Amino acid sequence: MQEVVYNKFSKTIFFYCFFLETYLTMAFEEKKYNTEIVKVDPLNPEKEIIKKAAKLIVLGEVIGFPTETVYGLGADATNSHAINKIFEAKNRPQDNPVIVHVHSIKEAEKSVTEFSELAERLAKAFWPGPLTMVLPRSDYISPEVSKGLSTVAIRMPAHSVALELIKNSGVPIAAPSANLSGKPSPTKAIHVFKDLQGRIPLILDGGSTLVGVESTVVSLINNPPVLLRPGGVTIEDLKKFIPNLIVPENFSSEKPLSPGQKYRHYSPETKLVLVINGSTADPKKIDSIGRRFGGQPVVLCSNPDHRHDLHVIHLGNNPKEIQANFFASLRILDDASFDVGILEGIEPVGPGFAVMNRAKKAAHKIIVLD
Ligand code: AMP
Ligand code: MG
Repeated sequence: MQEVVYNKFSKTIFFYCFFLETYLTMAFEEKKYNTEIVKVDPLNPEKEIIKKAAKLIVLGEVIGFPTETVYGLGADATNSHAINKIFEAKNRPQDNPVIVHVHSIKEAEKSVTEFSELAERLAKAFWPGPLTMVLPRSDYISPEVSKGLSTVAIRMPAHSVALELIKNSGVPIAAPSANLSGKPSPTKAIHVFKDLQGRIPLILDGGSTLVGVESTVVSLINNPPVLLRPGGVTIEDLKKFIPNLIVPENFSSEKPLSPGQKYRHYSPETKLVLVINGSTADPKKIDSIGRRFGGQPVVLCSNPDHRHDLHVIHLGNNPKEIQANFFASLRILDDASFDVGILEGIEPVGPGFAVMNRAKKAAHKIIVLD
């Protein structure tokens, strides 16, 4: 009898210790930092602020900063330990490589073993800007950046804060989007704060990003080059320089051409239904979709004036605006108290191609209306 009591007692103590340790580990891991948000002039960044941020990069820390596409979560691309911290901070799957950001062509050339003639032409046309090229990686870049691949994805961002940060750090900066893995990409500093508060020491707040979706990723490893991810540079513009560009039918998880294609992305917490080929202006249709998917619907669309009887989140007046507002709208959806977001698809041309790529990945369900 005594033995039973003793066992029960020790079991209780064991469980208390176990839970206490788990709690402390979680608390310690997630709230390691007192995250600071510092406002910075997006056009003429203050030197002192950039210096402070660059110092953190040199010390092997990870920080949030604006680019023209979305906010990035940056670390020294030559420091394996710092790169591992990026993956930890955002819970990124360990086999999904990150993009290296440079401030000069010279730095890009140093990061790869061969900067081909085509790479040079593309850089001249689109850099600084939202085009990422996959090229053979040099030893200058930490192998952790590419997660086992012999290649590296590289770009020069068109944002003064990003460029000054890289220049002042003296090293290229590896940076995925600064969201928790699976969440919509951040286009404002507050989005980064909400996802990564306590996990990083600093976020530079340069206001809203202009492009709103991530860079276009193109692999130049084989000929013809392959589009790995649609993004800020349109396919139409890219094809002017690469007429034989291979554009896959879809960028699905079944046959990933790039590790990033395997994973679920950009999803809001609220159920999101993407409607293709049909207007969402009919309140009866919206009600019925709402009922089918669990309750009160809100429509995410571009022409709110025609929807007096519906709750609406306005995406923008044209494809470029829709692209710029897309991720922020998914976060607005989560902050509002609706049960279902019904997203009206747009034509997949120009910026619409990247928007629809993100929309399909973010949606929990896709409906084709006739
Ligand atoms: P993110 O950093 O979240 O914007 O995503 C970067 C995208 O680029 C992901 O889809 C990665 O899989 C892809 N990527 C990065 N490096 C490489 C590489 N070396 N080869 C192929 N894809 C890459
Ligand atoms: Mg991302």
